[in-house]
Amino acid sequence: MISSILVLGSGSAGLLAAISLKLKIPQLKVTVVRSPEIGTIGVGEGTTPNFPRHLFDYLKISRKHFYAMAEPTWKLGIRFLWGPRGRFDYTFSKQLDAHWSDLPRPNGFYCNEEFRSVDLPSALMAEDMGWARQANGAPDIQGWHGFHIENKKLIDVLEVVAAQVGVEIVDGKVNGHERGEAGIKAVILEDGRRLEADFFVDSSGFRSELLGKALEEPFVSFDKTLFCDRAVVGGWDRGADEPILPYTTAETMNAGWSWQIEHEFHVNRGYVYASGAISDDQACEEFLARNPKAPKSPRVVKFRSGHYRRMWVDNVVAIGNAGGFVEPLEATALMVVCSEVQTLIDLLQHCALQPTPTMRTLFNKVMNRTWEEIRDFLALHYYTNTQRDTPFWRQCRSDTDVSGIGDLLEFYKENGPTGFCRHMLPHSDTDFGIEGYLVMLVGNQVAYQGRHHAAPAERSLWNQRRDGFQQQAKAGMGIKEALQFIRHPGWKWNGDA
Ligand SMILES: Cc1cc2nc3c(=O)[nH]c(=O)nc-3n(C[C@H](O)[C@H](O)[C@H](O)COP(=O)(O)OP(=O)(O)OC[C@H]3O[C@@H](n4cnc5c(N)ncnc54)[C@H](O)[C@@H]3O)c2cc1C
Repeated sequence: MISSILVLGSGSAGLLAAISLKLKIPQLKVTVVRSPEIGTIGVGEGTTPNFPRHLFDYLKISRKHFYAMAEPTWKLGIRFLWGPRGRFDYTFSKQLDAHWSDLPRPNGFYCNEEFRSVDLPSALMAEDMGWARQANGAPDIQGWHGFHIENKKLIDVLEVVAAQVGVEIVDGKVNGHERGEAGIKAVILEDGRRLEADFFVDSSGFRSELLGKALEEPFVSFDKTLFCDRAVVGGWDRGADEPILPYTTAETMNAGWSWQIEHEFHVNRGYVYASGAISDDQACEEFLARNPKAPKSPRVVKFRSGHYRRMWVDNVVAIGNAGGFVEPLEATALMVVCSEVQTLIDLLQHCALQPTPTMRTLFNKVMNRTWEEIRDFLALHYYTNTQRDTPFWRQCRSDTDVSGIGDLLEFYKENGPTGFCRHMLPHSDTDFGIEGYLVMLVGNQVAYQGRHHAAPAERSLWNQRRDGFQQQAKAGMGIKEALQFIRHPGWKWNGDA
């Protein structure tokens, strides 16, 4: 029976895993080992809604304390500067997987020409507003948001929470391990200390010290689908004239795409590109030409997309970059971390801390499905983006492997943006669901047969509804004003104890 767990790494993945394990299974002794010399990755700053849900609903961490320490801003979705329209907004709500009962067709059929302000979140994004106002003037903060949050601030807060809940943190660099019957018996630190545990969580980032190096689990590459393998990263302090936008921007570049993430006092920019299509120097040059305020020598981060064939081997589970990684086009890393952690905890609870081989197999099956779904979803972003005609984008349109969603694409081309497309997905366990695919297809104006030509009365009803959302959004409030509200001493969060 597992009674002690050692988590290797104190990046956001390791700390989230340690805190969650200790809070949900308090009898466990949970220790984190981290190397201040190696440090953490220092990027990873946009989330999906499952991240705040994990913190506040699953772990019951106090919103008031978290907001005060981590200073996140709200992310309502992603603005894609993408495709023939030049721009469309992907929210965390249901813009297209929806059907008004007084209109004959689902929403997507009305968005051929204009795809804006289909619901309140997309209207708020269109107006650069954070939240609608309640009758008393306060922001109406809803669950359909993720966060923009600085990696360092997040880690600082998680370290405080970890100490509060009884996780022990040990400084030291792991440079060896001892094998035992169950798998790994102990890790050995550079200074000779030996740390034993019944179970190990490998959250050592791209180094994957236990799963990749010690257990030599093979890596499944996504390089047939996702061609990017590097990012240039650099940001600047926000000027007084730069509004805090309520969304991440994802902008098409010559050999990839660029993100903009909105922190309260900082703007974070990065350019994800394919080293096969452009050199690091060219990428930096293109990035700096687009972002004159960025530092003149931006940092280059290398990565590979894919995941280890099994993320749970013997008594080791990898969580975070140590288990798998894809570029942050949909900011999925922390989403996967939360989902891995919850699945692991569920399984450990169901087997009374005595995992069976079939439990491990099940975990690996569920996690592989998640990675494959994310891979296919990102592939669709590349495959359908016709905005630029560079060699990289031509290669994306012709060579991206979209065989995982072949049935969906065929069905869509014959039937258009109907919610029935969901049955053509191999599986859907993530935050995106069919909504994400429909937004990409409609946003990129992918052609389908039998386009709907709305009668004037129908069109007028559709537009009236959009006008209503627009009016509500225009009367809303920006992120700065909403942050002032939640910092008022009288502000109370629903759900906080
Ligand atoms: C360019 C880029 C952009 C990204 N953007 C996003 C985003 O917008 N949203 C998102 O969700 N994610 C994003 N990510 C991913 C995100 O950064 C990570 O998934 C997340 O921060 C978790 O990282 P981690 O904890 O797995 O690894 P790390 O932060 O690298 O932490 C690894 C830990 O292991 C320790 N360690 C390693 N080896 C040893 C050793 N031998 N001994 C002791 N300790 C050791 C390190 O000291 C560190 O504490 C991005 C990643 C990249 C590369």
